[in-house]
Amino acid sequence: MDRLRFLSLASGSSGNCYFIGNASYGILIDAGIGIRTIRKCLRNIGLDFENIWAVFVTHDHADHIKSVGLLGEKQHIPVYATRKTHEGIQRSYCVTEKLYGSKKFIEKFETVQIGEFKITSFPVSHDASDNVGYTVEYKEKRFTFATDLGVIGEEVSEHLKQADYMVLEANYDETMLKTGKYPPHLKVRIMADTGHLSNDQTGHFLAEHYNERMKYVFLCHLSRENNMPEIAFTTVENYLNDVNVKVGRDMNLVTLSRYTPSELYIF
Ligand SMILES: [Zn+2]
Ligand SMILES: [Zn+2]
Repeated sequence: MDRLRFLSLASGSSGNCYFIGNASYGILIDAGIGIRTIRKCLRNIGLDFENIWAVFVTHDHADHIKSVGLLGEKQHIPVYATRKTHEGIQRSYCVTEKLYGSKKFIEKFETVQIGEFKITSFPVSHDASDNVGYTVEYKEKRFTFATDLGVIGEEVSEHLKQADYMVLEANYDETMLKTGKYPPHLKVRIMADTGHLSNDQTGHFLAEHYNERMKYVFLCHLSRENNMPEIAFTTVENYLNDVNVKVGRDMNLVTLSRYTPSELYIF
């Protein structure tokens, strides 16, 4: 009953939302999809809003914050973010219900305890008001979330290297982005150190830093225009093959879907 549970509700530029918890309660990382979809997904795993004890926000881009106002003020779920991210949420056009009493501030590197879960934030390189990833610790298990980042910096790397499970961005295939129809300024933005991670960057990192602790890697935030699940998977798998790490034997690799919830993982 009290094993670690993970569900991806949605992942990509149309909305991001992840549940991590146990059979009776948990938290959301980001809430960038509609509140009805969130409730439906939670009910499918036997939970409801009263079982969500907190929402942790990575940054204030629309695809990560759409429902934080409603979750905070209507469902009375505390919403944790850095001060700059909260300021960005208050300014955001896409958050119609603003946050008041449910607003909770975190500092980078601070650990917050929610029930039996310990959540620690760390800085990532991206172009929102402020940007963090999170590591969630639960009964000796570590689950790290690193989405929307242009490079894997030192702090991110340290967290990923100690993770049993991770949600890690594989936003774009470099050739698809370069030859695709996005306007030049957008291509530059995505490829920048404050943009998004490519399949190659993620594959390269995993091959270089693979260790036996890494059991599951969930590739997240795949671009619809500049990536395909098979390409992301194969690119990362090829990097791992080069260092003799076999997917399925040494590590599990999963691409998270943009619109469809993942299966419920119980670890
Ligand atoms: Zn995003
Ligand atoms: Zn973003």
